[in-house]
Amino acid sequence: MRILVDRLSDTPTEFSFEADTAWWRMHMRPGPEFPAELEQPLRIALRAHTMGEDLYFEGTLDGTLPLECGRCLARYRHSLHEPFRVVLEPSGARVPADPEGARALERDGMCLGEDVETGWYRGPEIELAPFFSEVVATALPLQPVCREGCAGLCYRCGGDRNLADCDCAEVEKSSPFAVLEKLRVGRTEGEC
Ligand SMILES: [Zn+2]
Ligand SMILES: [Zn+2]
Repeated sequence: MRILVDRLSDTPTEFSFEADTAWWRMHMRPGPEFPAELEQPLRIALRAHTMGEDLYFEGTLDGTLPLECGRCLARYRHSLHEPFRVVLEPSGARVPADPEGARALERDGMCLGEDVETGWYRGPEIELAPFFSEVVATALPLQPVCREGCAGLCYRCGGDRNLADCDCAEVEKSSPFAVLEKLRVGRTEGEC
């Protein structure tokens, strides 16, 4: 996932990369919300060109991630289609204020600013693997949902309401009427 700076010109050059499980394990922080491995590599299409001293990268990251639905807890394939772009200017003698950025500039030849759309580069070679992990992090859903309209699990009996309606919903639905019914009956009795 490297790019040699002196191979770039003001005419865009196309690159394609694959981010596989090895990349995933190295660059995505393990946690309950992340799958342990990818079923298929993520595909990255990148176009890169120079703008004076600056470098301009743009492209898309595509693929699927095995995630767990936050509503029904089913495993599902979450489609990713994330466009990205970043403009890097030469760092010169500058060093990023944050230690993480300084290490990235040293190690990868690039670091990102506060947003992920600008950054600095240094040296003849840029390692993009950590940058792609930022793109994936941006693309990850805060609340993974297997599909729009997933009914989720019943909070009372735990049944999957996508598969079958449970009686809990019925009881709840009828209860206000049951109360009304009682009131009505009570009033009628009182009148008699
Ligand atoms: Zn679901
Ligand atoms: Zn239920």
